[in-house]
Order: sequence, then structure tokens, then C-alpha cells
Amino acid sequence: MDTRNLKKREWLEFTFQNTGEAIRFPVGTIYGKNPGPTMVVVGGMHGSEFCGIQAAIDLFNEVDPVNLRGTLVICTIYNLPAFQNHMGFVVPQDGRNPGGTFPGKLNGTFSEVMAHHLNEHVLSQADYYVELHGGDIPESLTPFVMCPLTGNAEVDQKIDEMAEVYNIPLIIHRPVQASDKPASGFTKVALRGVPAILTESGQQGILNMDDAKVHLTGLKNILIKLGMMDGQIMNTVRRTYLDARAAIRSPIAGYWVPFVHLNQKVAKDEVVGEIRDYFGARLMEIRMPDDALVTVVRTSPSVGVGNVLVELHSIVRHE
Ligand SMILES: [Zn+2]
Repeated sequence: MDTRNLKKREWLEFTFQNTGEAIRFPVGTIYGKNPGPTMVVVGGMHGSEFCGIQAAIDLFNEVDPVNLRGTLVICTIYNLPAFQNHMGFVVPQDGRNPGGTFPGKLNGTFSEVMAHHLNEHVLSQADYYVELHGGDIPESLTPFVMCPLTGNAEVDQKIDEMAEVYNIPLIIHRPVQASDKPASGFTKVALRGVPAILTESGQQGILNMDDAKVHLTGLKNILIKLGMMDGQIMNTVRRTYLDARAAIRSPIAGYWVPFVHLNQKVAKDEVVGEIRDYFGARLMEIRMPDDALVTVVRTSPSVGVGNVLVELHSIVRHE
């Protein structure tokens, strides 16, 4: 079959051998009229982060194969079980966050087998990879791009180029190291020498079309930057570069009340919120470990041990 100049919609289907349950991924492929690299885009790594999912769907519908050089492979919703069950972060079958399951295992738990199949059949095709996130149900966040720092100068430079044209103001660099330990998909892909970024726009499990559009603009800008599409790169933001992420996690279960807001600069030892009991009595104050910028705030009061309360970064430089 001559696949040039074609848009294909398909379900990749696998079976979880332990229970016989199906593992299904909706994958759209756009075969460009002219040759070029393959960019892979995955939405719904977290199934209730709808702005990333919407952008993946919009990208599939808006890119015309006639105008594409190379191939665009788009998994619109990776974590379909979470999407269908209104769940934040985790794959319901085993309660695992997919962000810590790659490259997956063929004989693992449900989410490890999912990761294995996505890795084998979708991520393995990538010359470039963008993982779309959109702020899950219990979190508010300010849009950012996460760049893994792999130590491979050529790869890291391409990663920076992709991040810089995404047209999102906050760019975070996080050192990553090759390891046998499972990690997020974009980290593992980058460590294989394939430029990969994670992008966040949207929050609190809400489908907000403006936040989805931020992703779509960024994705199109990357295609133009990589020479896969013609067009004008949209550049309307001033960028701030941040260092590696630190997350404040809850040491206890209880009722969380935040006192800080997104994009707030908070000083070391300042109280960022408190955990109360279900009658309103304070159990614990949560303080900043360092001076930093707040990028993610847990907005759900329901908190368990180890849940992220606040994510913060230090500012390295402004553009
Ligand atoms: Zn996410």
C-alpha cells in the first residue's frame, strides 16, 4: 500500500494475559506527502488531563498530509481506563501512575503491560516525541514545558529547540539518568537519544479550549521548526527558565488547605498551607523548603500520605 498522503485512524489492541482484559489505544497516523522524520505525540498519559487530549485530537484533524513532510503518529488517549472511569493520574486496574511505568514489562501489572505495548508499537517509531499533559483533577497548574537534560549535547539542544518554540512561558530543565528503574515515557525516550519533552497546559480535569489551543499552537510550532510543515512560528510569550522540580509531598493524610497560588514567589520557611482533621483542627503546617516559584498547587482538600501538595522551582533566568 502506498501510504503517502494518507490519514489513518486505528485502534491498537492487545490483551492483558492475567485477566483477558483488552488494552486499547486510539492511534491516528498522518503520512505526509513528502518524506521526513516521524514525530510521535501522546495525549492522556493521565486520562483526565483533557486539554492535552483535545490538542492531540485537534492536531490529528488539522494537519493536512499534503502539507506534511514525514509522519505524525498521535495516540489521542493513552490512559483510556482512567479517562473512562473519571480518575486522576492512575491506571485503575493497578493504581499505578503511568509516569513511573516505562518502558513497561510484557509480563507485568496492567499498567506495565500498557506501557510495554505503547513503547514497542508507538514510541519506538519516534524521531521526536511530545507527551501532552493538562493538569489532573486535584491540581491547578501554570503551563510549562519539561525538558529532560540527558547529557547528550545534540539531543539536549534539540530538546531546547522544541521547548523554546512551544510558546509557553515556563521552561523547566530536569537532569535525567539512564537506569533500570521505570520512569516516565518521555524520559526513557530522551535517554534513548530521541528528543522528547513533556508539556503541561490545562488544570483540574477541566476541558478548557483555550488551554488546549496553547498545546496545539506549540505542536504546530514544533512541526514548523523541524521542517515538517511550512508556516510562521507563533511567538508571543516571554520565557522564564527554571531548574529541576521539587515537590512537597504530604507526610500525613487529612484535609489540605493551600495558602499559596500559582506563579507566586514564596520564601523559604513561609507557610504554604496546612493539613487539618475533618473537624477543622490544624494537624500540621507545611512550609517552603527554599525560595521558589509555585507551579502546581493541589486544589483538592482530600490528601493521602505521599500526595503532592505543591510543586516549586527556582528561577534560573528570564529570557
Ligand atoms: Zn499529567
